[in-house]
Amino acid sequence: MKGFSLTYDGFDPPGEGLREALTSTGNGYLCTRGAAEWEDADGVHYPATYAHGGYNRETTIMGGLPVLNEDLVNLPNWLVLKLRIEGGDAIRLADVELINYRHELDIRHTMVIRELRFRDHDGRVTSLRSRRFVSMADVHHAGIEWTLTPENWSGRVEVVSALDGRVTNHGVARYQQLEGRHLDPVSPRTFGPEVIALKVQTRQSNLYVSEGARTRVFDDSGEPISVERSLYQMEDYIQQVLGFDVQQGSPTRLEKMVTFFNSRDPATSDTLERAGTSARRYKDFGEALERHTSAVTELWCACDLDVPGDDRVQFLLRLHIGHVFQVCSHHTADLDAGVPARGLNGEAYRGHVFWDELYVYPFLNYRMPEVTRSLLMYRYRRLGEAQAAARESGLRGAMYPWQSGSDGKEETQRIHLNPLSGRWEPDLSHNQRHVNAAIFYNVWHYFLATGDRAFLGDYGAEMMLEIARFWASMAQFNPERGRYEIHGVMGPDEFHEKYPGAHEGGLRNNAYTNVMVAWLCRLAQEVLSLLPASRVDALRGRLGIRDEELSRWEDMSRRMFVPFHDDGIISQFEGYEHLEELDWDAYRAKYTNIQRMDRILRAEGDDPNRYKVAKQADTVMLFFLFSAEELKAIFDRLGYPYAEETAHRNIVYYDQRTSHGSTLSYVTHAGVLAEYDPVSSWERFRVALESDVCDVQGGTTQEGIHMGVMSGTLDLVQRGYAGTQIRNGVLYFAPRLPRQLERLRFSMQFRGTPLRVEFAEGHLTLSVHSEGVSRPIRVGVGDVIHELCPGDQRTFALSTDNDLVHDV
Ligand code: BGC
Repeated sequence: MKGFSLTYDGFDPPGEGLREALTSTGNGYLCTRGAAEWEDADGVHYPATYAHGGYNRETTIMGGLPVLNEDLVNLPNWLVLKLRIEGGDAIRLADVELINYRHELDIRHTMVIRELRFRDHDGRVTSLRSRRFVSMADVHHAGIEWTLTPENWSGRVEVVSALDGRVTNHGVARYQQLEGRHLDPVSPRTFGPEVIALKVQTRQSNLYVSEGARTRVFDDSGEPISVERSLYQMEDYIQQVLGFDVQQGSPTRLEKMVTFFNSRDPATSDTLERAGTSARRYKDFGEALERHTSAVTELWCACDLDVPGDDRVQFLLRLHIGHVFQVCSHHTADLDAGVPARGLNGEAYRGHVFWDELYVYPFLNYRMPEVTRSLLMYRYRRLGEAQAAARESGLRGAMYPWQSGSDGKEETQRIHLNPLSGRWEPDLSHNQRHVNAAIFYNVWHYFLATGDRAFLGDYGAEMMLEIARFWASMAQFNPERGRYEIHGVMGPDEFHEKYPGAHEGGLRNNAYTNVMVAWLCRLAQEVLSLLPASRVDALRGRLGIRDEELSRWEDMSRRMFVPFHDDGIISQFEGYEHLEELDWDAYRAKYTNIQRMDRILRAEGDDPNRYKVAKQADTVMLFFLFSAEELKAIFDRLGYPYAEETAHRNIVYYDQRTSHGSTLSYVTHAGVLAEYDPVSSWERFRVALESDVCDVQGGTTQEGIHMGVMSGTLDLVQRGYAGTQIRNGVLYFAPRLPRQLERLRFSMQFRGTPLRVEFAEGHLTLSVHSEGVSRPIRVGVGDVIHELCPGDQRTFALSTDNDLVHDV
């Protein structure tokens, strides 16, 4: 099938880190970078494995000050397989003459493949094919297969098969000065002659992690061959060396089947015992791969986006879907996991969970809603911590942290390194309280897509109410304006942390935040009307929500302050109009890449806070998250004008002042421009699509893929271009298909009913699954609402400007 392979020919040491991140293999429980099995971490290679929830805190003393950081821990390296030929040194890419080299991510089967032919120092030519996967069928399992063929020699080889717990977190150059040791050894052990196992423990969070491995060797006809095994173990490392003969021209297969368990896994007593036993019982590579493949196939049936008109776009969308699976699959639904902004593929942002969920859930909501539900539960389980954070700041309700890790405390660093200047600078980004509005939005949109009233009643509403309450306690009424204001916050644009020259962090009346608050204050009341009376009473009683509080929310939904300037431009925050314009042309001429204008300005001794320069969409987020009708209703209720041209004027204004220093910004701008400027929208969409695979930020992707942009591009197809939107229990389609997407097919589910969507030759065809789970659904095309029953298929003609005009 087309578009299912990311392939690199030839070995390129400087690019290896990026390739490793992009060719990782994972199953929504753990994920391992696509490093070669035989390489150690050495500046070119960085083998690393991360699992959801595997956090640990360590303190670094910097300039005499203790700095505490929580990291997603790099777990023991299970990949290790090293080949020694005739007693020589272990083969490494840098030490042999590579005749052929191919490194591939088979996206369709979530498998990493390396094929190489090399000539060693003694002139021996050998070919090696490696395939490996982390099982989508058996959550605790993974497998590696090597096929080894001596081409011009016969002789004895040794293969070292190890589990290496001596790893640390040092995958991000900027964090080198910070403590990276997170594991303490517990013990190595063998389980019979073929199985080795290793147990480690995180140093502070006391998480036990164990891995087991069974390594065997087979001849050309699939028969196990006898190998000489020798064992070596230390407290944090265990290896077996397998010695065997190989014949010229005859392939020998080696399998290393690996298991993982941690002390949070259900049905587990001692993780070491579990890992070792499981490895002993584990299937052969072939059978395990078949099970994995059929599980992945099922995922693709639900999640593929089929774009036959553009091969490159097709490939990139599939790459992104494949990476979403690696971090968020049905296995994730059983875990206490959030979505790390950089996936489980690297150490940037330390595996923390940000507001990026906002870009991830729309794709999941329509395909694997049970996964969104579980990811939202990650927030619910940390509600107590968010309530404590609000209380400790003298506020009420729940104040979720900007960066969240194990237990929901604020994990944002207080200082960060500017790689351009080499200086540590204060980090005020924890003032991005808008993450709380995003969580509210996510709960609501999960509910819209699924109709899951049980979740809303049991968990969702409580988070929504506590978030509304937080904002109400943060807002203050300004009698002069007759409006509510919010001070001391930052919007999504991280270049503006405070007013120029101010000592205090934070800004007044970030428009994005204030409008979100007006919206959620109205909805928080409406949510109560969706719950049974007994539940409302219980919730209000437990949280102590009195009528006066509801009245205040009502009032805030009508009287939040929104700043404006230049006749209809929504000011990013109060006072924005007084900032200086940046000389964009001068900076473009001086620097090849000006996306991180903050670092450039700071390195020049200047301050981004002084300028009208945004890192990413801020005010523009409003047009991304809400439809024109929704925004008009919010602004009408607030008593502010919202004209026909408001959206477009504001988008153009801020577009000219945004450096897109976050990849999320391309997704947002592509989304909002779909309606007004399809050509420009498509350009941004293409940049967003290419951003990880081409590492457009120059070095960030090797530190972890960007989950927000990867999922965001998928959402752009369904929401931005196919124009899906839910209103009043109806799934509407208002397509704005660019030429390149005129043929487009995908599956989705709406309120539990699977639906096939197909755009082709100027028509939209909707087919509702006829199977058991399906129920009638309402879809809106143009202005007309249709009820579709299980088994129904309806086709609608698109007018030339893409509007849906009639039923055919
Ligand atoms: C962006 C944030 C984002 C974070 C994690 C930052 O560069 O500015 O909006 O949440 O990365 O992806």
